[in-house]
Parts: sequence; structure tokens; C-alpha cells
Amino acid sequence: MIDWEFTADEAARLLSGYLKIKSLNPPGNEKESADYLSTLLNERGLKPKIHPSGSDRVNLTARLPGDGRKKPILLYHHMDVVAADPRRWSGDPFSGEIRDGYVWGRGAIDMKGMGIMQLLALDLLQRRHPRRSRDIIFFAAADEEKGGAFGTQWMIENHWPEIEAEYVWDEGGFGLQDFFDERPVFTVAVTEKKDLWLKLIARGEPGHSGIPHGRNAADILLGALNRIMALNSKYELNPVAAMLFAEIGKLKSFPQSFLLKNLHNPLIFRLMQSALTSDSTVAAMLKDTVSITVLRAGEKENIIPEIAEATLDIRMLPGRSTEGFLEKLKSLIADEQVEIEIIHAPEETVISNIDTDFYRTLSEVIRELVPKGITAPLLTPGTTDSCFFRQKGINAYGLFPAIIDPGELARFHGIDERISVENLRLGTQITYEVLRRLCE
Ligand SMILES: [Zn+2]
Repeated sequence: MIDWEFTADEAARLLSGYLKIKSLNPPGNEKESADYLSTLLNERGLKPKIHPSGSDRVNLTARLPGDGRKKPILLYHHMDVVAADPRRWSGDPFSGEIRDGYVWGRGAIDMKGMGIMQLLALDLLQRRHPRRSRDIIFFAAADEEKGGAFGTQWMIENHWPEIEAEYVWDEGGFGLQDFFDERPVFTVAVTEKKDLWLKLIARGEPGHSGIPHGRNAADILLGALNRIMALNSKYELNPVAAMLFAEIGKLKSFPQSFLLKNLHNPLIFRLMQSALTSDSTVAAMLKDTVSITVLRAGEKENIIPEIAEATLDIRMLPGRSTEGFLEKLKSLIADEQVEIEIIHAPEETVISNIDTDFYRTLSEVIRELVPKGITAPLLTPGTTDSCFFRQKGINAYGLFPAIIDPGELARFHGIDERISVENLRLGTQITYEVLRRLCE
């Protein structure tokens, strides 16, 4: 029998040390984190490899070997974290304090906590299951929070054989409680939205603002923006969202159960639309979103501006082509005076298959270990490094294997981020159990 209470305390202690390291990105400085992980891995006989990708930028891998009958599984986490304003936190964001049953600090959920669960699960697997059908790769990546140029992308370009695997287990979804239902729904990210960043440039004619002449660049731009922003209220059901709601429907009683399972019927979808989209995260799964992020026009109080510019962050649903989407925007704008400049265009989005041993085993383990827990596929509005693996044809799944309610989730990239010791126990147990079965 595994002493899970002991494991949970060990996880809390190791995570506390990890959270004390300020791996803020920028600048990242993942070297100190990699050194810390190297020590933990070496102590457990798991030999780490360091892959420097820039000054003070490093990636780390460690491989627990199997007999090679099956292809490896890669356990992914990133070592860098986002900024934390100490004035807004109740304590030091880098204290790693263990208090009231929680480990506190930036990165507890995103995603050093998951790295520690993986490391301990790997160690348990090594000690308790010497006969394994496949390698398990532990991968601690740099630079996820700034796009991955020094991290996963760099590793794929320079050390692909070190991280090539059949399945990748990344972040993305959570065991969400009191979100869709009071029962926990473990949402497993299988795809992401595609980010398209554009600049709109409207050209008009200068003049005295006391005599409006109808060719004010700001007016032209505002007209175009108004027509584009209408996209934010155009909802549609994509296949991943349909699967998610069908699973949630199984938890509900009639008529909700029926309605959620039959959303592909346009009448039912329209009927359910306002209920489904009342939460902005869920709403983002059901539409292409447009946010104006920069707006610029004019220099002086009494001069009509000749040029006006807006930057847009657009997140397209998977399956959209960038070209097709730009055509649609042009026809919405319908104004020759507005030019579209592409700042960033996304790669093709791939959806990971859920008809796999990995997904089935994950669902099975969750069903056994979490009373009334279910698993459902998720489309994430944000981006993770999984997209790079999916482009390489690998099935990547995003799940932080712990139970979190909306209040806890708000601390993710927010204030007073923390993880309960109880969740560290559950997460390590789920990770271990999934790996054990997939190594049979
Ligand atoms: Zn993250």
C-alpha cells in the first residue's frame, strides 16, 4: 500500500521549495528551477538532462525507461511563471508558505504544482513497478508564458528525440467543481482556439474639426470596428464543445439532460444559448472572439485625424482558416478606406483524439478515485505548449488533475495563488495510477 498522506506531505514540502524560486517570465531564468529539479531527480535516481536554450534559459528532461513495447508518454510542465504584484497578495508571492492546508505562491497551479505531482508519481512508479512497457519522460520546459521560443519550440527543433512520445500530458483543463455542476467535471483540453492578431488602419482626410467633412479617419475606423465586434454575439457549436455539453448532460435531470445532449439541433442550440453563454469562459468556447487591445487616432483637440489605427486580438474557433476568416472580415468592414495588416497568424489547429488508451484510462481512473467525478473534452480559449506537440501529430491532453472551484480558479494568473495539500495528494495519485495502467 502507498502511504498517500506521507506522499502529500512530501509533495507540499517539495513544492514549497520550488515556489520560492522566482522564475518570472520575463526574464524566465529557468536555470535555478532546473537545478532544483535536478537535485530532486538525482536524489531519486532519475537522471536529469539539461538542455540550455539561451543565457540562463534551460529545459530539463529525465527518462524513466521501460522495455519499449509501447511508445513513451511525456509528462509536461513549464518552470516559468507570470508576474505577481506583492502589494496585492496577502503574503509574499514567493514565500512557498504551507499554511491552513495549502501551499501558497505564484506557480502553485500554473504549473509547478503539477510538476511536483509528476515527479513523485514517476518515483513511485520506478520503485513499485520495475516491469514497464514504455518510457515515461519528465519534461520541465522554459518560456511557456512568453510563447515557447526558448522552451518547447526550441526543444522540438533541437532535441526532438528527447521529447518524442505517443501521448503528452499537459495543463489546460481542471477538475471543475461547482462550475458546470456540483459534481466535479474533469475537463481535458484536446484543442485550443487560434490567435489572430490584426491591425486595422483607416485613412481619411485631415481638416478643421469645426467643419466635419465626413472623412474623419476615427469615424471610418469606429464604423468598421462596430461591424466586426458583432462577431462577439455570433455563437456556434463546434464538435469539442458539443462533446463537453453532452457529457455534462449526463449529470443533469430532464429536460436539461435532453437539451444538452441535443445541442446540434439548431433550435435547441438557440433555446439554450443565453443559459450557455452567461459565463464568459464558456461563451468563448462557442464563438470567434474579438477584443480591441490598442486604439489610436488624432494628435490635437481641433484637427480631424487623417489616420486611425486599432489592434485586434481575435481568437478563432478550431477549424477556421485564416484566409477564410480574413475574407469574412473584409466583407464585414466593406470599406476600401480600411486596410488590414496581419501582426500574427496562427498555425493550423489540430484536435487530439479521445478514442485512445490514454483518454480512456484517464477517465477510468478519475471515475474510480473521485466519487461522482466525470471526464469531458475541452476547447481552451487560451494557448498552451500542447499546440506544438499536436502539430507534430502527437495526442496532447491538458488536465491539472485536481478539484478546483471557481474561487480557486480565479487565483490562476491572479492573486493569492495556492494549492491544497489534499489536491497534491489527489493529483499525484491520479498521475501515478494512470501511468501505472498505461505501463502494463
Ligand atoms: Zn501554464
